[in-house]
Amino acid sequence: MKKSDSKQLSFATASIPGQAPGNINRRTFLQHIATFMMAGAPLTGWWRNENLSQMTNKTTGFVYDDISVRHSLGKTHPESPQRFLKIMEKMQQSGLLSKLTAISPNIDVFPHLYMIHTKQHIQSIKADYKLSHEVALQAVSAALTAVNEVCSGALRNAFCAVRPPGHHALNTGREEGFCFYNTIAVAARYAQKVFALEKILIVDWDYHHGNGTEAAFYTDPSVLFFSTHDQYNYPGTGDPARIGSGHGQGFNINVHLQCGATDTDIIDAFEQHLLPRVEAFKPDMILISAGFDGRIDDPLGCFDITDKGFSQLTSMMMTLADEYCAGRIVSLLEGGYNLDGLAKAVYAHVSSLSGVDAESQSLI
Ligand SMILES: [Zn+2]
Repeated sequence: MKKSDSKQLSFATASIPGQAPGNINRRTFLQHIATFMMAGAPLTGWWRNENLSQMTNKTTGFVYDDISVRHSLGKTHPESPQRFLKIMEKMQQSGLLSKLTAISPNIDVFPHLYMIHTKQHIQSIKADYKLSHEVALQAVSAALTAVNEVCSGALRNAFCAVRPPGHHALNTGREEGFCFYNTIAVAARYAQKVFALEKILIVDWDYHHGNGTEAAFYTDPSVLFFSTHDQYNYPGTGDPARIGSGHGQGFNINVHLQCGATDTDIIDAFEQHLLPRVEAFKPDMILISAGFDGRIDDPLGCFDITDKGFSQLTSMMMTLADEYCAGRIVSLLEGGYNLDGLAKAVYAHVSSLSGVDAESQSLI
C-alpha cells in the first residue's frame, strides 16, 4: 500500500529526547512532534520501550501447559499441536524462556466461564469435542492465571501460549474458526469481577476479525474492543460501520486492512483509530488477542506484517499501559499458521513485552 513521504514521518516513528516513554500524553506528543517536524529533527520511535526493563523489577509471565499438544482438529489442520511445540522450541532455544516467569494455569474456570458462555454451549462442546473442551478450558485457565498474576502486581505483564484460539467463539454450541471458548472475553470479565477493574481495552491484531469478542461486548461501554483485520476473509464480519450499540455505541472499533498491509499500515491504523479513543477511555487493563496470521508468509492471511512490526505494536501497547494502567497487559495467542513464522513472531512479541532480547539478532 502506497504511503506518502509525510506519512512516513508518522506518530509511530517519533521520540521526544529526554522524555521517558509512558510519561507523555498524546496531546503533548503532538505538540512536540509538530516542533520536531518543522525543525527537521530525526524521528525514532517515541513508544519504544527499551528502557522499561530498567524501570521496574517486575518480570513478564509466560503461561503455558503441555496439554496444549493434545488437542487436534485433524492431521493436516493448520491449527495444529506443532504450533505450540514450535513456539516452545523457539522460547527455549533462544534462552528467552529462562528470563521469564514460567507459570502453569492454576485457576478453576468455573463459574467464570458462564460470564461469557451459556450452559448449553459448554455442554454441547463437551459432548462433541471432549478432549478439545478440556484443552480449551485450560487455555481459559491460563488467561485467568495471567490476569491474577498481573492484577495482583506479582508480574508486570504476561503472555499466554495457548491453543485453541478463542476470539471467534460464540454460543452456538459449535467450534467457530478453530475456537471453542472465548478466552479473552472471559479474561476481561474475570478482571472486572475479581479485581474490580472498570474498563478493559481489548486489542485484537489477528488477521481475522474477532467476531466472538465483538459480540460479547457490543453493547458494553466498559470494554473497548479494537480490531484490525481483513473483513473480507473469515468470518466475513468486522465492518468498520459496526461501532457498538446502545450504551456500547462507540466502544467497538473495526479497522479493515487490505491484502498486502505492511507494518506502516497497521501502525497507522492503531495511531489513527485507537490512540485517540484510548486517551478518552483510559483503560484499567489491556488485553491483547495476539494473532500472528497477519504475518508475512502466513498461509491463512494476506498481510505482510513483519516481526519488527509486531514488536512495534507491542511497544505501543506497553506505552499505553504504562500511561493508563500501571503497565497491566495480558496477551493471549490467537492465530498464526506458518510454524517458523509464528515462533519468530511470538519471540518478537514476548521479547518486547519483557524487554529481553535473548538472541540479540535483528528481526525481519
Ligand atoms: Zn486468525
